[in-house]
Amino acid sequence: MNTKLATRKPSRRRRRQEQEALAAQASESAAPVMDKKVDWTRCLPFILLHCSVLLVFVVGVSWVAVAACLVAYALRVFGLTAFYHRYFSHRSFKTTRWFQFVGAFIAGSAAQRGPLWWAAHHRRHHRESDQPADVHSPIQHGFWWSHMGWFMNRENYKTNIRAIKDFWKFPELRLLDNHPYIAPICLAVFMFALGELLAYVAPGLGTNGWQMLVWGFVVSTIAVYHVTYAINSLAHVLGKRRFKTKDDSRNNLVLALLTFGEGWHNNHHRYPASARQGFYWWEIDITFYILKILSWFRLIWELKKVPHQILEEGRRGYRLPAV
Ligand SMILES: [Zn+2]
Ligand SMILES: [Zn+2]
Repeated sequence: MNTKLATRKPSRRRRRQEQEALAAQASESAAPVMDKKVDWTRCLPFILLHCSVLLVFVVGVSWVAVAACLVAYALRVFGLTAFYHRYFSHRSFKTTRWFQFVGAFIAGSAAQRGPLWWAAHHRRHHRESDQPADVHSPIQHGFWWSHMGWFMNRENYKTNIRAIKDFWKFPELRLLDNHPYIAPICLAVFMFALGELLAYVAPGLGTNGWQMLVWGFVVSTIAVYHVTYAINSLAHVLGKRRFKTKDDSRNNLVLALLTFGEGWHNNHHRYPASARQGFYWWEIDITFYILKILSWFRLIWELKKVPHQILEEGRRGYRLPAV
């Protein structure tokens, strides 16, 4: 063997080639250049819906309208967390085809686009979390972009079919995805009709169709929007880290209460397959309690559990000071 050859220093040309290869590799793994333009025309209904909250001063308030607002909030937060997130994105339990449609429809009435679009983007978030290609990372792209800028971008309107092939095969889900306004319009019409009916049969309640539409649909939809968005923005910034995950996810009790369990986001990034995001009994996870009840009625089954070694890992703890 020619030892002289084996130990010879690489030539200058060779070193330059190596440096060029490394630079090319780095640019491949770097952020794809993200076009951060907002498609204002397409976002007009979203903006108008926000402005419509001011109509509360026109239609007034009644306890029945506030109750409708709370029920519509709770139902849709549950729909989003249980179905769009834990079922369609992570397959953390099983259900029948008809019940998966019911879940998709309830969550779809939150006007956060279709189940396939939502889940495909969310799967990407887990693959790339807090890396440059994570489209809603507050670490990479700032608070407002992660909260509500990213989905107003023309590029992010597309559903990545390859990321959601397992559910793409269902035509009824594709229908909801292609026509995401159907479910929210059904809810809006229902609220208006309910208000008109109550005004007729129980005028003493002091409500009517417009009031129920504004409180039961508009106000509750805006509230659901911003607690959902807060998981993308705040749950990667505010709270405690129990697990040393590759991202900056946090556990946050306030967000967990508002989102019915999604605030245990650091737990979730550590083990996304689990149907439960509050890993320990003291971590309140309302979605999981409801899923458990649904499983008693055999509407869903095979709820995925957190492995024992991960629970132990969490007990040993890895904590950064709260921010
Ligand atoms: Zn996350
Ligand atoms: Zn997730």
